[in-house]
Amino acid sequence: MTITNETTPGRYLDYGGQYLPELLMPEIQRVAAAYAHYKDDPAFRREFHTLLEEYAGRPSLLYYAKNMTADLGGAQIYLKREDLNHTGAHKINNVIGQALLAKRMGKTRLIAETGAGQHGVATATIAALFGMACEIFMGRLDTERQRLNVYRMELLGAKVHAVTTGSMVLKDAVNAALQDYAARSHDTFYVMGSAVGPHPFPVMVHDFQSVISTESKAQLQTVAGQLPDYVIACVGGGSNAIGSFAAYLEDPTVHLIGCEAAGKGVTTSQTAATMALGSTGIFHGMKSRFLQNADGQIDAVYSISAGLDYPGIGPEHAALMDSGRAQYVPITDDEAVAAFEYIAKQEGIIAAIESCHAVAAVQKLAPTLPKSQIIICTLSGRGDKDVAAIAKYRGIQLSED
Ligand SMILES: *Cc1c(COP(=O)(O)O)cnc(C)c1O
Repeated sequence: MTITNETTPGRYLDYGGQYLPELLMPEIQRVAAAYAHYKDDPAFRREFHTLLEEYAGRPSLLYYAKNMTADLGGAQIYLKREDLNHTGAHKINNVIGQALLAKRMGKTRLIAETGAGQHGVATATIAALFGMACEIFMGRLDTERQRLNVYRMELLGAKVHAVTTGSMVLKDAVNAALQDYAARSHDTFYVMGSAVGPHPFPVMVHDFQSVISTESKAQLQTVAGQLPDYVIACVGGGSNAIGSFAAYLEDPTVHLIGCEAAGKGVTTSQTAATMALGSTGIFHGMKSRFLQNADGQIDAVYSISAGLDYPGIGPEHAALMDSGRAQYVPITDDEAVAAFEYIAKQEGIIAAIESCHAVAAVQKLAPTLPKSQIIICTLSGRGDKDVAAIAKYRGIQLSED
């Protein structure tokens, strides 16, 4: 089953598309044409996979979580360990792919917007590796909240712009990055951090991240000789989830579940539950589901997890939900923090608070299933970055300031 609209590239049902200022359209068409040209080019694919293996450390493990399986007493649980990649998350897969395309297009400069800083760090990492210039746009409030990531990017040789327009957060950083892109597209490539934005970005990110499920499918076949019954991943913009789902989209027996950040709960205004509460709109170059007010203004979103507090979701996920192929469930801060502590104690793994939204869903689902069923849960990243915030959440003071 496919939900791509074959007659209009970049459309997923009615979602997706290219909603950009006139000025940017020619460059986006060049990116789409370049990707169409290189995506099946053997030399491009070889270079991508070589970097995934030799630099990012792939394949990532498919780990049988014996303790969690026994403790929850139902389905067998496997963890897809994207937390073991270089830089500690799945984001590197996508950034390697886009930076390679940028090089093929003759670009010498990478730009990106970042909220929490994780995508900025991944982009700065690959820019350093490839010897490319790198400038990252970040809302000024976010630069103050995420000083450590700002310094990481600077260590990696990137210039970080603190954006002071609007409310000085992610959406303002997107606007600033798009303005820079319009002015300098002759030498610049805009590296998109998730399965969002105008075509061809959602398609590209889907393809580059699909290595997650291509691997997990083969790995599970080797150890269990079967398909999983459930694949579960957290969703912010949706890149680790679409990568986790991609190889199973045509396997109707495999249930696909995305876990979004409910923050303080879907009945509060402090939430990022785009699927539960959002509506169709246009932002960030695409038609998709967004949290927005009646005038179409994008709402401020909240989650304990910086990587999930994006006010929208990638267009392919919006279509997967409408078509019923995938389900999306909201997970609160409380549930995610409890899962963070649970997986640390059960399996000895400190997982990213984003990923723990998926772990929380596994905790609810596994006990309801027979022991013959198999769940694969993607751990999108490692949780070292979250330890201080979790301590604070629990009222534990770790430092003097
Ligand atoms: C950025 C991030 C996410 C959310 O992004 P997606 O595009 O939805 O995958 C999830 N987990 C981690 C560890 C991240 O860094």
